Amino acid sequence: MKKIFEKYGIKLTEKQEKEFEIYYETLIEYNKMFNLTTITQKEEVYVKHFVDSALVINNLKSGNLIDIGSGGGFPAIPIKILREDINVTMLEATGKKCEFLSEVINRLNLKGINVINGRAEELAKNEKYREKFDFCTARAVARLNTLCEYCLPFVKVGGEFISLKGDADEEAKEAESAIKILGGKLKDKKDYLLEDAKRCLIIIEKINKTDKKYPRGQGKERKKPL
Ligand code: SAM
Repeated sequence: MKKIFEKYGIKLTEKQEKEFEIYYETLIEYNKMFNLTTITQKEEVYVKHFVDSALVINNLKSGNLIDIGSGGGFPAIPIKILREDINVTMLEATGKKCEFLSEVINRLNLKGINVINGRAEELAKNEKYREKFDFCTARAVARLNTLCEYCLPFVKVGGEFISLKGDADEEAKEAESAIKILGGKLKDKKDYLLEDAKRCLIIIEKINKTDKKYPRGQGKERKKPL
């Protein structure tokens, strides 16, 4: 499985290789109860979940990161396995998924990573978390305009929100006003191929503080995106 990572320029140590192995086994074991992923075949999990998540690391300096809607741990856990220097917080709305994430942290004995059971639009109002992170990531949680309202409030001015997407030209256009209103600026859009699938990283820099009225809550982020 090491070779799959090498194909994308990532060299695993023996320890990291073992950690991905245990992560895979735990994911499959808990998937039967918690519905974490529709992809279960080993190579497919390595490419579409592990490598896809891992490709974010070249865009991250040291610091602290919050991952919104971590689900089965993507991209947060692969980032932590590969980058011990990054402190990771996983925020996940579903309690059972949080149980799984805690189990992975224990089995892999990961340090500098924690999991919070809650919703982004609520936690972002808490001063302990608001504008406290150097980076925020999210994959497969919502469309980009909604996601910006969930994620940008967590990011410090000077920090970045990195969204992992498929073919996202239209979403990026659609999110232009949300990005501006929330204090962001589109910094880069990196398109690449994962096997045959179009993938992209949308990197949004936080240039101004987010007005306290955001996120609006009561489901408005999804029902009436900015
Ligand atoms: N990021 C993972 C991945 O790429 O496989 C999980 C994606 S899953 C489709 C979306 C996850 O986001 C779910 O586990 C859901 O509970 C969580 N979620 C959705 N909205 C959320 C919110 N507002 N705050 C926190 N978690 C949320």
